[in-house]
Amino acid sequence: MYYTSTRDSSVKVTAAQAITNGISKEGGLYVPCEIPSISRDFIKELSELDYIGRAKKILSLYLTDFSEEELDYCVGGAYAAGKFSAKEVAPTVTLENGVSILELWHGPTCAFKDMALQLLPYLLTTSAKKTADGKQIVILVATSGDTGKAALEGFKDVENTNVLVFYPNDGVSAMQKLQMCTQEGDNVAVCAIKGNFDDAQTSVKEIFTSDALKAKLAENNMMFSSANSINWGRLVPQIVYYFSTYCDLLNQGKIELGDKINIVVPTGNFGNILAAYYAREMGVPIKKLICASNANNVLTEFIESGFYNKDRDFYTTISPSMDILVSSNLERLLYHLSGDNDAFVNDCMEGLFEDGNYTVNKAVYEKIRGIFEGGFCDDDATKATIGDIYKRFNYLCDTHTAVAVTVYYNYLRKTADNTPAVIASTASPYKFCPAVLEAVASQKDSGEDGFALMQQLNTITDVPIPAPLAAIKNKPVRFDKVVERSDMTDVVLDMLGI
Ligand SMILES: *Cc1c(COP(=O)(O)O)cnc(C)c1O
Repeated sequence: MYYTSTRDSSVKVTAAQAITNGISKEGGLYVPCEIPSISRDFIKELSELDYIGRAKKILSLYLTDFSEEELDYCVGGAYAAGKFSAKEVAPTVTLENGVSILELWHGPTCAFKDMALQLLPYLLTTSAKKTADGKQIVILVATSGDTGKAALEGFKDVENTNVLVFYPNDGVSAMQKLQMCTQEGDNVAVCAIKGNFDDAQTSVKEIFTSDALKAKLAENNMMFSSANSINWGRLVPQIVYYFSTYCDLLNQGKIELGDKINIVVPTGNFGNILAAYYAREMGVPIKKLICASNANNVLTEFIESGFYNKDRDFYTTISPSMDILVSSNLERLLYHLSGDNDAFVNDCMEGLFEDGNYTVNKAVYEKIRGIFEGGFCDDDATKATIGDIYKRFNYLCDTHTAVAVTVYYNYLRKTADNTPAVIASTASPYKFCPAVLEAVASQKDSGEDGFALMQQLNTITDVPIPAPLAAIKNKPVRFDKVVERSDMTDVVLDMLGI
């Protein structure tokens, strides 16, 4: 299996090279040259395995340059007993007849990013041994909140790596900020920037692709890599849980082998839902992929019209990990749906860069319509849903998950498509206490500290507080720097001492 670039299909690299490089040198994203396909029997076999077994089988289809021992080491390490608070790692629970929730937040940072970022350090260090001859790997992350913490936690004290996280100062929740600023580990740093997530992401991409900086790192036997979802090593672990949820539905007797399901994903950078697209292309019986957005509804408009337009108002919402106007991973979808057309992708990305928008051609648009549905909701609807499903089903969900639940039920009302649905749940409700408390107890934001709010939510709902969140209380703040965008390069060099 080889990988090519969305912006230059003459590129041909191994999985290990794709993972170590993070992004292709002309700025494109790595994609598999061919998407492997699987049979019904393969799904049946998977359904008899535990999560680690399922992950190994699927990863072996994509990481063909990894030995079986290497895969055992990587997957076994990432999802070892005790790392995730649920023994199934990513359990599928029933909301009501025909509607299930795939809980992806039982890892150490209580958000779905752990599913990939617990595995990525293993994949990256194993890949670097094959390709980067002993270079120190410098991980730069732009985060809308959850990736940063999950990357810090995944890479802390991993030998031969540094991890540096930039986040928008006013764009993450108080608990997310506290989680990052109290991070432990000798190879980590965290810095806030004045600007929003797209600013942070654009600047990190610029730093990555700067020849001058790359040369400077090379002189010091270092190289950049990425833990953002533009790295193939982030995406491939996410494909696994869409297979796994299908297997769980089979084992729960909710579906028969071959039955179709719908998948609903609260979407920001388009990584999580793209993983579901790969699972669908590989042969998991999935009818529709339903892409849920908050008030930043650029993807809803795109799916409905084929017109992508980032020049619009930016909203700071109660689902901050989805406050994104440039969904990087969409580039991969454009590549696949256009029949591996790198010129087409270059045109779109140039349009986006120069004019802030692009329109896809009719063939691509029709493919999108056949696979995807889009929907969005605002903060009020999000809160109403949290309250409603707590009352009706005694199920407490976070703000991001609630966006997906809202969009799903709107879709169901509109289409009457009652195909069994799985809604991806991406964070613990305890990461977003102010909004969740308001939703379930009509409690206005009291400005109390995050711990008091967690306690209140626990008292009202009896849902246990995740241990890693409770533990932050006793940790000192280690990072409090806020810089201008233009100073980010200096922060990088400063941290590396070069
Ligand atoms: C990152 C994140 C999302 C969005 O996922 P993408 O892969 O960026 O689309 C949704 N919910 C939560 C809680 C997240 O952390």
